[in-house]
Amino acid sequence: MFKKILIANRGEIALRIIRACREMGIASVAVHSTADADAMHVRMADESVCIGPPPGSESYLHVPSIISACEISGAEAIHPGYGFLSENAAFVQIVQDHGLTFIGPTAEHIRIMGDKITAKDTMKKLGVPCVPGSDGGVATLEEAHAVSAQIGYPVIIKATAGGGGRGMKLARTAEELDYAFRAARSEAKSAFGNDEVYIEKYLGRPRHIEIQVFGDGKGRAVHLGERDCSLQRRHQKVFEEAPGPCIDAETRARIGATCAEAVAAINYAGAGTIEFLYEDGEFYFIEMNTRLQVEHPVTEAVYGVDLVREQIRVAAGLPMELVQEDLVPQGHAIEVRINAERLPNFSPCPGRVTAYHAPGGLGVRMDSALYDGYAIPPYYDSLIAKLIVHGRDRDEAVARLRRSLGELIVDGIDTTVPLFPMLLNEPDILKGDYTIHWLEKWLAERA
Ligand code: ADP
Repeated sequence: MFKKILIANRGEIALRIIRACREMGIASVAVHSTADADAMHVRMADESVCIGPPPGSESYLHVPSIISACEISGAEAIHPGYGFLSENAAFVQIVQDHGLTFIGPTAEHIRIMGDKITAKDTMKKLGVPCVPGSDGGVATLEEAHAVSAQIGYPVIIKATAGGGGRGMKLARTAEELDYAFRAARSEAKSAFGNDEVYIEKYLGRPRHIEIQVFGDGKGRAVHLGERDCSLQRRHQKVFEEAPGPCIDAETRARIGATCAEAVAAINYAGAGTIEFLYEDGEFYFIEMNTRLQVEHPVTEAVYGVDLVREQIRVAAGLPMELVQEDLVPQGHAIEVRINAERLPNFSPCPGRVTAYHAPGGLGVRMDSALYDGYAIPPYYDSLIAKLIVHGRDRDEAVARLRRSLGELIVDGIDTTVPLFPMLLNEPDILKGDYTIHWLEKWLAERA
């Protein structure tokens, strides 16, 4: 096992990883920008190294500084968390070239899944159901018309290098296709430096269902069921739950097995998430994330596993402890993402937290890097906390979420906390009856 791990991240996820390291008897090294000198992850780690000025590109994304921090501290492995360098295949290669271990999948798997056309093609061959669409990239407007007429309107044009919902355009009719195709290409070019696009059937009212998978890198893999992350604003998840309110045990076992078999077949190592749109009982693959996700705690709650511990074990070459037969979901878990943002526009609201009190009690987990007097810097993601509740069933989880939101105090800044009690008053939310469009529509009605 590793003696020392460097965490190439900040905020709540850095704390999450430090906690797993400590329980495993592994020393942790935090890295930080000058803006984060007083951050909680720096205080909580065994050691810390300052890696540069505030902008991410000069600190948390600055590969030479991170490698140097490993060499200075003697860390043998790097956990990337999510975001930043977590899905950067070139970084993984550099880590390995320096004789260090990247806690995650191989550079090759990251590369395959980072290119959406290759990812879709790979998944299709592995028997994973995909959205009907073009066979690979679509280079000309004529081709776009032919493909779209064949799959039927509406269609969505997506960037092969896409991410964060950028480079995506909807065309409801052949007339709209000309503009949508050109706009998607130019947006993709400017956002990702690659104008290749592909076309898919546009699904009108799907849910976002994602399957957590975990592989040992040697041909064995398991699934840990699904998360429903349909409640989104601008493609950003806001509220996630497991199990999915619309997924039964038989459906879970079927799609879960398909996903586990697919990642086993490619010798995938570590945690991964296969994302689907789900409509009328059918799953349609959209992408695979080759990292730990923000919303992983809901899966940990219902399956009683520590995914970060398992990631570290597998990266160290130890056998994977997860066994499919033992993985049975218990109860229901919900996570809400708390951002330093001002409602109703969700405008970023960094600043000093004058008072902080975290909720507690049975079935409540608060993953946050906040503390009394902490000044949230303006340079990074606005996620400041994740509140995760676990109950014996969905009603109990909802009651526990309502109760724990009432205990939470974050003074001095605006946050998205007030959104959640409102959502928990909505009959659709209480019934679990919502699609990926529900939240945007609800917010628009209140604007
Ligand atoms: P990104 O990596 O940019 O987030 P995704 O492929 O994951 O792109 O898609 C992001 C979101 O766009 C999905 O969660 C969904 O809301 C919407 N979307 C993507 N593909 C389709 C489709 N074929 N039909 C309807 N909506 C889609």
